[in-house]
Amino acid sequence: MIDNHLPTGELQALDAAHHMHPFTEGAALAKKGARIITSAKGVWLTDSEGEEILDAMAGLWCVNIGYGRDELVDAAARQMKQLPFYNTFFQTSHVPAIMLAKRLAELAPGALNHVFFNGSGSDSNDTNLRLVRHYWAAKGQPERKVVISRWNGYHGSTMGAASLGGMKGMHAQGGLPIPDIAHIDQPDWWSEGGDMTPDEFGLERARQLESKIEEIGADKVAAFIAEPVQGAGGVIVPPESYWPEIQRITQKYGILLIADEVITGFGRTGNWFGSQTMSITPDIMTCAKGITSGYIPLGASIVSTEIFDTLNAAEEFAHGYTYSGHPVACAVALENLRILEEEGIVERAGKETAPYLKEKWQSLADHPLVGEAKIVGMMGSIALTPNKATRAKFAAPAGTVGYICRERCFANNLVMRHVGDRMIISPPLVISKDEIDTLIARARLSLDETY
Ligand code: PLP
Repeated sequence: MIDNHLPTGELQALDAAHHMHPFTEGAALAKKGARIITSAKGVWLTDSEGEEILDAMAGLWCVNIGYGRDELVDAAARQMKQLPFYNTFFQTSHVPAIMLAKRLAELAPGALNHVFFNGSGSDSNDTNLRLVRHYWAAKGQPERKVVISRWNGYHGSTMGAASLGGMKGMHAQGGLPIPDIAHIDQPDWWSEGGDMTPDEFGLERARQLESKIEEIGADKVAAFIAEPVQGAGGVIVPPESYWPEIQRITQKYGILLIADEVITGFGRTGNWFGSQTMSITPDIMTCAKGITSGYIPLGASIVSTEIFDTLNAAEEFAHGYTYSGHPVACAVALENLRILEEEGIVERAGKETAPYLKEKWQSLADHPLVGEAKIVGMMGSIALTPNKATRAKFAAPAGTVGYICRERCFANNLVMRHVGDRMIISPPLVISKDEIDTLIARARLSLDETY
């Protein structure tokens, strides 16, 4: 184990001096010092001061199975002893990759039966971007290159994935997006729906896809990519009218549908995959995070048989990562999937925990600061507002009130994230009813202290 004996202040100083954090304002971190997490069990984190914190974000939406499962540790250790690394390039394979690909093919809906392994969600989406273009070239339509995605969608941080994403702040840094990517607006009724009903608005936003395809020319569009439920954008649950219309449009124009299930996969929305919850039939699914419950990095692109057959009949797809199908990651994923299924964690989360969480989460809607309280399965958001009736925004710069609320939560030993002025949760699927009660009590207290 890494020695934890240094005092918190010293660790914070070393951290600020040498460690560059993702998505973190360096100056603020240096001033305040990071909260240093030293261990975790179930849904509880322990910090270097011995404080116990309820993790309502499952790390970064990934620790679906909860912290501290020794079976995953043992699976990694066994695999490290037997075969710590071998690649799957150049006509070689190994048992963990074979067995995990088979298992994912069984779990994934419909014709999604073939798996390309990656190291993370971002590079899975880079794989998808290259793969769909290679697919269309193999079908004799190389000019089909454009991938359409959504503003405020999130698909990762690499050049390709961040270009697919619609985070304008990310695009402003480093000259994104790369060519042949287009965006349409998100189905965020609360913030952007105006006087329309949610269903009218859902149709309007879905039909932007049709307009964009016609503007670009259907013969130039390769795919549409979206999260079944936007996660990092603020847990934006689309109106019911949205996905059926998107599916109709992708089918009408024959463009591929990529469901980015990095967050929504492996039980998060109450089914194994968000595509099932939203009744979508994608051609490709992006997976990461919950595939190993975050215990070790792994990503996967799961593709349809039609895509697989087309690629196999074409010239070699010149793409892959050293760690594509890393044996230790695959062994941990297999153990994670075994536990999720055999202990009925996905099923229980969908049938018992999610309805309880929904009732409690929605009870927050009576708070004066809370506008809509949305939740699908085990991911939810509340929109903070100074006026529920008009869905008004705060006079303070966007995100200020959300940030204050997040800080109050943290001080009350609850990890909730804020996205602008939305507060979001995505707890481990194994959270108990008592722990949900604690989550809600701490959230309410933090809202009171924000108001
Ligand atoms: N896609 C979605 C929907 C995500 O939420 C994320 C990360 O949060 C990614 C892709 C990127 O995954 P990673 O951080 O593993 O690269």
